[in-house]
Parts: sequence; structure tokens; C-alpha cells
Amino acid sequence: MKVAQGIAVSPGIAIGRAFLFSEEKLAVPSYEISPGQVSYELERFNTAVDKATRDVESLLSQEGGELGDAERKLLESHRLMLTDPELASQVGKELQSRKRNVEWVLVEVVKALTQKLAATGDEYLRERASDIHDIANRILRHLMYRKRVSLESLDEQVILVAHNLLPSDGISMNKQMVLGIAADFGGKTSHVAILARSFEIPTVLGLSELAAHVHSGDQLIVDGNRGVVIVQPDDETLREYVRSREAWQKHELQLLNLNELKAETRDGKLILLEANIEIPEEIDSVLAHGADGIGLYRSEFLFIVPKRFPAEEEQLAAYLRVLESMKPREVTIRTLDLGGDKIIPGVRPVEESNPILGWRAVRFCLSRPEIFKTQLRALLRASVHGNLKIMFPMISGVEELESTLEVLEQAKQELRREGHPFDEEIPVGIMIEVPSAAFTSDILAKKVSFFSIGTNDLIQYTIAVDRENERIAYLYEPFHPGVLRLIRMVIDSAHAGGIPVGMCGEMAGDPYAAVILLGLGLDEFSMSAIGIPEIKRIIRSVTVSEAEELVGTIMEMKSYREIDACVRTWMEERFDFIAAY
Ligand code: PEP
Ligand code: MG
Repeated sequence: MKVAQGIAVSPGIAIGRAFLFSEEKLAVPSYEISPGQVSYELERFNTAVDKATRDVESLLSQEGGELGDAERKLLESHRLMLTDPELASQVGKELQSRKRNVEWVLVEVVKALTQKLAATGDEYLRERASDIHDIANRILRHLMYRKRVSLESLDEQVILVAHNLLPSDGISMNKQMVLGIAADFGGKTSHVAILARSFEIPTVLGLSELAAHVHSGDQLIVDGNRGVVIVQPDDETLREYVRSREAWQKHELQLLNLNELKAETRDGKLILLEANIEIPEEIDSVLAHGADGIGLYRSEFLFIVPKRFPAEEEQLAAYLRVLESMKPREVTIRTLDLGGDKIIPGVRPVEESNPILGWRAVRFCLSRPEIFKTQLRALLRASVHGNLKIMFPMISGVEELESTLEVLEQAKQELRREGHPFDEEIPVGIMIEVPSAAFTSDILAKKVSFFSIGTNDLIQYTIAVDRENERIAYLYEPFHPGVLRLIRMVIDSAHAGGIPVGMCGEMAGDPYAAVILLGLGLDEFSMSAIGIPEIKRIIRSVTVSEAEELVGTIMEMKSYREIDACVRTWMEERFDFIAAY
């Protein structure tokens, strides 16, 4: 039995057999290129070869005798093959004559080469074919930014174990078959964590090197409440966990009794508790958990799932489905937030050294107005069929907001000309998730109808801590005084400007943060649907003045440790928590 400690990111307990998601099959794209693109394709090939060669060299330079003799010899031969000018020359010739993309050409060149070797009948040469495939895969991986095999085809219930999972893996996996998830990489606000909570799958991330010690078929326990994964548990541990799984399920069912009740404090302040969703299929769970509406629909998954940019009508159908099923509740749809780790498999056009600070969200949309306008037109057309609000992600300042509003205005004018009806008064708001937006929130509040604080990114950018990186997860601290002051500033600016302010980052669903956010004056909380009943229980048990008093105390404190300890004691004196958040 092996016990591994990671980060608890999605509650619940799963017991099952492991499925090790490590194989990478590369789906090679195939398309025509113009004669002018041949040199660009060749350049891409040379860059990918350089990177693959560096990979091999870095493996070779490992210290401490980690490589055996045979492995070293093999890598040496791969290095030689990678730098063989003959390969580049073959690829260049084929690019000229076939006029297709370089990935496809490489596969063809390799096929021809290995067929030639097989025809010699020489066993040694035949064996070299597998080396050629190996180096071709290394090159392809760089050309294609490591495409991953899809998890759509899972056909038995398993616990998914991986070194790293991408949001595109998480969204496309066959959710009914995934009992639990355990991965080495990631933290509480990784998009895979967010998806796991949305799909109610117990999950532990940040396990460092668990995947290397698990085999497909091993029995596994994933304790998403305590952040523990147990490999090949003994009988006693297994019995204990079967009991705790029952207790957890009972606790969850009990919380659902609050569904018909409002989130109203003991002194009568009504708070809106809404849900975050990634795909329309989540609506049933949203309604089952008693949400007052949808505070964040991450529309980018509408693009990531089909791996392309869907047309206006297709988007309209998805938005209508959500609006109609949530009626008369409100639905806030966020425009495309692609970039960072949220990429459309195979479509990412550029490689960036700092994607999280790069060409993402509205920055991407503003430079691709045809894609942006298609989405805005679909949203506007949907607005007459329900209670819709539009929200823009990653706004960093007033110029960016104005450019964004301009595209919205163009979309409105087009629809007016074409006679398509839309809600002329549609509320338009922004996420506050970039520190510069928080600092200028007084200015921005005059230009929009609402704010929603995106703490996942706001914390990442404020503390300069990658939200995906488990090694520095200890720094990712919502109770950092710097973060709390920014949140207070945003809430105060919104109220001074006469607009409501919500929060749709994961902090809004953290039971330990609920009273603080209430005391700071937050109007709306939006979170994974499963978090709603617990937050409702807390809000219904306190008064605003108690919450304000707690805020008064912690805002005087100097460090997040001090604040964390104070809040924990305060909360645990009043509430019993089963899940460890
Ligand atoms: C956030 O940054 O807090 C947020 C809600 O957006 P996302 O998690 O999709 O980046
Ligand atoms: Mg964000």
C-alpha cells in the first residue's frame, strides 16, 4: 500500500481501478499549402528538429548514472539521426513536390524510409525502423505542441491517473466512466480541477510523481476531501474508506434539503448564489443544487470540444439551450477566454514563452474580430430568449474595455440592419481578474453594468504565482492581505459606482472565505454547483454585522498565516466541515 499526499481539489471519495493516461498518440493533421508556404513549413521543421535534439541532449546530460549503457547508446544514435542532413533534405523535397503541411510530409518520408529498410531483409536495418519512428515522434510532438490521445472512448469505470491533464482532455473525457482523478500536476484553481468539481468527480492533483508508481488496473482510493491517494490499499483501509464514502454521500444529500431556501443572512440580507458551468450539459446539476442562476458560463469550452470555431447558428443553439433551461433565472455568458492552458487542440497558432501573460481572452478576440463578432452576434440574438448578461474576461484597463465595447456596438448595428431582434438594454459587465483592472475599478465601474471578480487569475497575477504549478501552490493564498485589499477595493468601487459585484473565481465557493466575502460586501457568489448548498448553509447561519466584525479584525492583520488561523478558528467554532478545503 502506498499513500500519496496531494492537493484536494474536488470533494468526495472514489474507489476503483486505475487507468494510467500516459500514452500519446499523435493525430497528424493534413492540409494543402501554397507554394509560398513551403519555406515556412521547412523552417517549422528545422525548429522542431532543434528542439527534439535539445530534448535528447538534455536526457544525455543527466547526471548520477541514471542512464544505462544501452539507453545512452540509443539516445546517441537518435541524436545523430536527428541531425542527419539527409532527413531535412528529404522533407524539403517532399514539401516542394507534395505541397502539404510538414507534419503530413514527415510521416510520408518516414513511411517510405522504413519500407525501404524492411525490404532489405537485414534484421539490424529493420530494427532501425523503430528508431526512425521514435525520432519522428519527437519531432512531431514539437510541431504539434504535444497533442494528446482523447479520453472520449473510455468504456469502463476507472480512476484516471495522469502526470498532467489538459482542460481539453478533461472536457472531452467520457465523464460517466471517470470515478476519480489523480494527477501529478496542478492545483485548486487549475482548469482541470474546476472541470472535476463541475462534473462532481473526486479529484486530487499536485501529487508530484504518483503516475510513475501506478499501473493500469491497480486498486486506488482517491480522497478528494483530504487530498490523499492510496495505491493498492489493504483490506482495513478499504473498509474504512467504504464507510467514509457512505458518510460523505449522506452529508451531501442532507445539504440538498436547503435547495428550496434562499441564501439569506440571519439579519435579512439576500445573497445571490449562482453556478459556474463549462458546458450546457451541466444544467441539470445546477438546478439540482438550487442555484439562483448562472454567474459564469465559460463559453470557450464550446470551441474546445469540437476543436474549431463554431458558426453563429451553432453557438446560438448552445446559448439558447442554457437560457431556456434556466428561465427566468439570469445567465451570465463570458465571451471566449482562450489562451493560457485553454487551447483548442490542434488550432493553437503560435507558441508563446509566457502564454498566461500572452495572447489570451479579449486580447485574442480583439485581434480576431471576425471570430469575436460571430460570438457577440450569437449572444445578442440569444438575448431575447431569456435573462442574459454578457461578460468580458481579462480586461486590463479602460482602452481595452472601450475597444471591446466598440466591437459589441458593431455587432449590434449589423443585427439592427439585418432586422434581428436583440435586447437593447442587455447588461454588459467585466471580470476583474487583472490587478491593473482592480486598481482602476473606480474608472471601469462607470462604463459597465456589473463586475465579477475572477480570483483564480487575480491571485495568480497579484502574487505572481502560477495557478497550475503544484510546487508553489503554498504561495497561492486567497487570504494574502494584498489580495484581500484588492478585493475590498473592487467591491467598494463597484458600490460607489452604483453597480453590483459578484465573484466567480474558486474563492467564491470556499466555505472558509464565505463570511469574509459577505463582510466585505460581495453581492453575488458564483461557483461549481456542488459548492452551493454548503455556502448557503453558512450564509443562512450568520449576520452581516458578525461578518463585518470578522473582516474588521482580519484587515488589521499583517500576514496570511495570521488571517488564515483566525478565520479557521472562527469558522470551526461555528460549523462542522466534513470536506477539507
Ligand atoms: C478566474 O480567473 O477567476 C475565472 C473565473 O476565470 P478562469 O478560471 O476561467 O480563468
Ligand atoms: Mg480567469
